[in-house]
Amino acid sequence: QQLAEPSAAEKPERPVADAKAPPLVQYEQVTKRYGELEVIKGIDLTLQPGEKLALIGPSGSGKTTLGRMLATLEKPTSGRILVEGESLWEMRMPSGKTVPANDRHLRRLRGNIGMVFQHFNLFPHMSVIDNVTLAPRSVLGLSKEEAHERAVTMLGKVGLDSKLSEFPSRLSGGQKQRVAIARALVMQPKVMVFDEVTSALDPELVGEVLAVMKEIARDSDMAMMLITHEMDFARDIADRVVFGAEGRIVEQGTPADIFGQPRSERLRSFLSRFG
Ligand code: ADP
Repeated sequence: QQLAEPSAAEKPERPVADAKAPPLVQYEQVTKRYGELEVIKGIDLTLQPGEKLALIGPSGSGKTTLGRMLATLEKPTSGRILVEGESLWEMRMPSGKTVPANDRHLRRLRGNIGMVFQHFNLFPHMSVIDNVTLAPRSVLGLSKEEAHERAVTMLGKVGLDSKLSEFPSRLSGGQKQRVAIARALVMQPKVMVFDEVTSALDPELVGEVLAVMKEIARDSDMAMMLITHEMDFARDIADRVVFGAEGRIVEQGTPADIFGQPRSERLRSFLSRFG
């Protein structure tokens, strides 16, 4: 069964990504191998500044690996990933020669990229506010006051400014994930990878996290790479949907194309599982 495109009235108003701007992110012929297993088989993919891209596909198709490579948590086996035209893993010298990236280069580019994980990854021994102020203080070098102010603003955005001194163990899964989102947002990245952020949650907690993400998508000019199994959510907020299977991009297009007129048998069969 095909999912209907929401009417213009249902779709939140926000500026559309500028298709003519130079890409914020470019994957060029990227492959990734774990031992004998090639999990990414030559991917070309771009993200424009502010673009909301949903990545869908069967489990094991390489979506998380693609996101983790952008967040520099995994290194491509071959190919390049460019952020604002600069390769993550290589530096161009004044002579024009390319050499492997040093820590400083990687840190500088990494500052543009945020990631939110399926399992939150909060620091359990730290309060909510300390979880969110840690990186602004240690990585951005903000003062205690500045970091606190920014963190409180972000925790307000995710509806948790009343939980500043709570510890993660006393929060619900949905609240933990909202703290993790605030912790990533506080670094003000240009692109954020959301890796199946609702799939570890009890069903009744999924909605509150999706609502927060919809609001962020509507209000912010940050680009988003949304790895998700929530098809209605992808259809609602994505500018573009990419369907991958077995390490390759099979089909991509607008939500109307992908959900309304899937071309490949593979995508049709994948979507039929979401009825
Ligand atoms: P998806 O997010 O689409 O479910 P993943 O990117 O998580 O897919 O995984 C793609 C494939 O890579 C899977 O077969 C998975 O088992 C394998 N894989 C992922 N990470 C590793 C790793 N660190 N070592 C070995 N195999 C891995």
